[in-house]
Amino acid sequence: MRRDVGSPPGMDATATQRPAKAQGHLIAARRTSLVYAFDAPEPGSLTTIAPGILWLRMPMPLALDHINLFLLAARDGWLLIDTGPATAEGLAVWESLFAGPLSGARITGVVCTHFHADHTGLARMLCERSGAPLLMTPREYFWRRAWPGILSEMPAEHAAFYREGGYPADLTDQASEFFTSLNLVQPIPMSFRRLRERDLLPDADDEWRVLIGHGHSPEHAMFYCEARAMLISGDQLLPKVSTNFSVTAMDPSAEPLLEWLGSLECLLALPDETLVLPAHGLPFRGIRARVAQLQSHHARTLGRALASCAQRPCSAYEVGKALFPGPLKGIAHVLALGESLAHLHHLARNGDVTSALDDSGVRRFRARRSTPSMKGDEHD
Ligand SMILES: [Zn+2]
Repeated sequence: MRRDVGSPPGMDATATQRPAKAQGHLIAARRTSLVYAFDAPEPGSLTTIAPGILWLRMPMPLALDHINLFLLAARDGWLLIDTGPATAEGLAVWESLFAGPLSGARITGVVCTHFHADHTGLARMLCERSGAPLLMTPREYFWRRAWPGILSEMPAEHAAFYREGGYPADLTDQASEFFTSLNLVQPIPMSFRRLRERDLLPDADDEWRVLIGHGHSPEHAMFYCEARAMLISGDQLLPKVSTNFSVTAMDPSAEPLLEWLGSLECLLALPDETLVLPAHGLPFRGIRARVAQLQSHHARTLGRALASCAQRPCSAYEVGKALFPGPLKGIAHVLALGESLAHLHHLARNGDVTSALDDSGVRRFRARRSTPSMKGDEHD
């Protein structure tokens, strides 16, 4: 039996429902654009999406200034979906919730969609405090476990990756800072409960089925509830910004673009009226419109990357400058390099570009044709 949001133990009336203004008017535009069902809530507050489904907007210290966390009713308690980063501000938000609206609430599981710091940063605190297990897909869990934490300096293999990418030395220092100073995660708990594709989230009052996506991270979990027509999409599908899919120094031969586009196509099997609950931005309806926007955006980006390499042999850094013009700071440079490599690896796989190391050890990409071929569906 479904219970009202007011009744779970430890939940008071501070969770407020905030339907978007003029919602009915917006629904008419559903087929060609996105429909936003809620306004942005106050950071740190709980919003009721529907009975038994709560939204916590957690502040973040990066350019992406928030992450959306969700709480799902489960066995007279709550499953937490993602944790926020391990910052003083993040800890303070959870403390105030445990002292207020979640006082006395039972946490039945801490679920992380994927291994990134904003999604797993406080997993240890939440698991230890509640005694609840951590639930993740295996590849996400072990990627988090593999990361050694704050480093005294950039690993030599990573420095070689940036050199080959044609990264200027001063920007390599900025990238190094990211690894040596920015601490957004606690050590992950030493055991976890495995999430598999098509599993149901254990103990949840509703049937939330695990869907797996790729490209942004190795085995990203999403959760779909057919009865509620809702999808918790994590970072796989976002309403405003395109999901980042980067070739990284840790896995420099990856080809994440094709994986991510393939995962996008799988989402087209869901009903278009599905309410998407993303990790960043506002809940929205219009999966098909959003997938179409993203597909055409990345087709254009492939064309721009190829055009850059047609003028002269380009490093990944130079292609990144063409794809992301304007000033970038800190981690944005790292992401730009990773995304430009993702597009270049895709072009190379399709035979649109070739690459070779120049005399200084920088890999340069040269166009072999003027428009990208579309061979992506040959990928296995
Ligand atoms: Zn992420």
